[in-house]
Amino acid sequence: MSKSTDELFKNVIAHAKEYGFVFPSSEIYDGLSAVYDYGQYGAELKNNLKAYWWKSMVQLNENIVGIDSAIFMHPKIWEASGHVGGFNDPMIDNKDSKKRYRADQLIEEKIEQLLNEAISKESIFLNKMYTDFTIEELVDIRHVRDYFKNQDTVKRPNYDALTDKAKDSFDFIETNNDYQKAVSIREDFTNALLTDDLSKLRDIIIRENITCPISGTHNWTEVRQFNLMFSTQMGAVAEDADAIYLRPETAQGIFVNYLNVQKSGRMKIPFGIAQIGKAFRNEVIARQFIIRMREFEQMEMQFFVRPGTEMQWYEHWKRLRLQWHLALGTAPEKYRYHDHTKLAHYANAAVDIEFEFPFGFKEVEGIHSRTDFDLSQHQKFSGKKMQYFDPELGEDGKPYGNYIPYVIETSIGLDRLFLLTLINAYEEEDLSTEEKQDSRTVLRLHPCLAPVKAAIFPLTKKDGLPEKAREIMSKLKVDFNLQYEEKDAIGKRYRRQDAIGTPFCITVDHQTLEDNTVTIRHRDTMAQERVPADQLDRIIGDLVSW
Ligand code: ATP
Repeated sequence: MSKSTDELFKNVIAHAKEYGFVFPSSEIYDGLSAVYDYGQYGAELKNNLKAYWWKSMVQLNENIVGIDSAIFMHPKIWEASGHVGGFNDPMIDNKDSKKRYRADQLIEEKIEQLLNEAISKESIFLNKMYTDFTIEELVDIRHVRDYFKNQDTVKRPNYDALTDKAKDSFDFIETNNDYQKAVSIREDFTNALLTDDLSKLRDIIIRENITCPISGTHNWTEVRQFNLMFSTQMGAVAEDADAIYLRPETAQGIFVNYLNVQKSGRMKIPFGIAQIGKAFRNEVIARQFIIRMREFEQMEMQFFVRPGTEMQWYEHWKRLRLQWHLALGTAPEKYRYHDHTKLAHYANAAVDIEFEFPFGFKEVEGIHSRTDFDLSQHQKFSGKKMQYFDPELGEDGKPYGNYIPYVIETSIGLDRLFLLTLINAYEEEDLSTEEKQDSRTVLRLHPCLAPVKAAIFPLTKKDGLPEKAREIMSKLKVDFNLQYEEKDAIGKRYRRQDAIGTPFCITVDHQTLEDNTVTIRHRDTMAQERVPADQLDRIIGDLVSW
């Protein structure tokens, strides 16, 4: 059953709703844009993802501890962190449609469109010149096209080593008008971004005749910075209340507690502080389901290190975090690193771990070398010393002494991780035989992530089978999240559990009453085996434990 990726993605979203994973927020009031609720199975899956992260970051690392800081924080924190002044997106409004767009995104889309045009013309050209291609040629040509589309992430092919047809492809794209135009826009665009020149961004939009996707006109306003933080008031009387921001990242809650944790936990550098929590951003362009939400959840860890050692720790976390993703069983080619060339004001190195969603590669996690920026700023704004005394001896035999630690951050979006997990797991499996057509939708979730670990079915509703099934369940439910179901035929019950990713279905039948054995059916293979009921604990435990 081959489906376009677009269709598959739509099916995943529909499945997420139909089976209680993700609902649009406030749906009975027509929803609230870019806000979502997690349903009964979604909440379980999300909790399991958090537990996986927490265990591997906090429990398995003796020098990392976890905290849970408040969402409300002193407003000065956001001045110190640079968010009041700098956490902006450049926005432009179309006067006809009254719609607001991110100026940078409009330009990026234009560049992409030109690149796509260049590549599609090249493809027509090659197909006119040649009738057939060897595998080697196809691989080379693909590399060339990939390179021209994603120059910042794809390595430049070695021209001399290319097959002749790939050389033709290379030459065609490089001299094509659309391609050259894309390059020149990109150059202007990068310049405008580096100099924070908003009028230049507008100039590009006007010059390139970029039109509003809704009205089709190019009646644009000026470009303005739009702050992404939500604000509210604290205190009973609005007029004399202080403005309070909903945190746009969880990291600052860690920085302002760094001294508390270091002292109360007697932590020695290098050490980390981890936290899972909600973050809020007034994203103007919110799309692609739970990829870009206005309320979302982050799992962040700030690792405090001695200045001068940060690059070594940066490389360490860059490697480890990708390994963590791959440990869930995802195909390695679905992931890639995207090293940043344009760095945020606080960073001296940054990389994204990207996952290939059905609509292309997208950031899931960022690893940033944040230098001592945040702690120094908090020292400046709060007047409190953020220094650490390092008693270890340096090369000169003296203690390293006092310094403000440098920080490596790993920051992963839980909702994006949730979505990629769902996409990876989702399969529409064709089970047709010569006799009959059949299919099932199955979530092949890693058993430790599955919302329900096992479902218990009495074969029928009589002869004491439900009572026996309940008895078995009551022994297991302390350790595992289970579901009891007695409605419908067994086949139908299996399908319902497949759809939510339950790794085991346990059926209690008349034989169970005689010899205390049950049938256990495995989700992935659909194979069934007869096992003693008192071994279920071990069988389920072996597979669903971390
Ligand atoms: P993007 O470029 O996609 O907006 P970002 O670079 O602003 O992301 P960070 O500030 O590095 O993201 O945040 C860390 C992680 O938080 C991201 O890798 C992403 O997984 C997640 N994240 C950020 N913004 C959102 C959002 N609006 N909705 C859901 N997850 C988000």
